[in-house]
Amino acid sequence: MSMRKSAESGRWSLLSGAVVLSLLAGPALAADPVPQNDLLNAELWMQNSVEYKANALAVYALAKIRLDQALAEKSWTAATEQTGAYQELPPAVILDLDETAMDNSAYQTGLVATGTDFSPKTWDAWVRAEKATAVPGAVEFTQYADSKGVKVFYVTNRSADQEEPTRRNAQALGFPMGGNVDTFLMSKEKQEWGSAKSARRAYIAKDYRIVLLFGDNFNDFTDAANGGEAERAKAYEAAKEHFGRDWMMLANPGYGSFESAPYGHNFKLSADEKRAKKIGALAPWTAPAQ
Ligand SMILES: [Mg+2]
Repeated sequence: MSMRKSAESGRWSLLSGAVVLSLLAGPALAADPVPQNDLLNAELWMQNSVEYKANALAVYALAKIRLDQALAEKSWTAATEQTGAYQELPPAVILDLDETAMDNSAYQTGLVATGTDFSPKTWDAWVRAEKATAVPGAVEFTQYADSKGVKVFYVTNRSADQEEPTRRNAQALGFPMGGNVDTFLMSKEKQEWGSAKSARRAYIAKDYRIVLLFGDNFNDFTDAANGGEAERAKAYEAAKEHFGRDWMMLANPGYGSFESAPYGHNFKLSADEKRAKKIGALAPWTAPAQ
């Protein structure tokens, strides 16, 4: 038998083996399909990928450069809520917590693994477990800001009764804790603080010059993000010059106002109804029929 012939027959016997195996495996696979989950790729990216980590590091590396610029330029402010004679106020930065400073991908991948949806109950258990990790670059950046005399505030929609476990989790990760100032501004900590964050930025802006904002969600920067797709597109056009300058956006394909805008933020809809609205919001190109 020639070398060539022998290699070919080897290939054929491998192939026929594969065919036999797939025939044997076929019915078993069909009976036990791997469950589909709309979060899978997003959360695989958030929890496992180098691409996500590199992206976060790049945002915080740019932020360090921007912070130095902002400190040198007294008229610099990131907050549309900042008014009056703010130039001489002490500087502050504001970070959202979840998926901006703190990484909750273990909670999110838990939803994928168990085939469950987000619920306030399981989320609360996660918060109280104090298992969030740090988003790459966030601890280093906030410690740098703190070392420059910049007050680091956390404006989060975790609730007021979750403040203590949240603080312990953040402190264990190495985030600056604010000294004698309450730098953790939770949703409903004051009656007028709803989930929209503008009121809390205005509160900080009374005593500080807010030089940078950080978020993973458009609504960490402007309340206009809570509208529908068209309002968000308009708000984006109006805000463009902020991004990469004084507004720092972290990536989060897992959840956020981007995901709920197509279905009008109506969380009562079923998963199928939400998915249909989201598919309907796309602008696809399809190949012409052959
Ligand atoms: Mg967030």
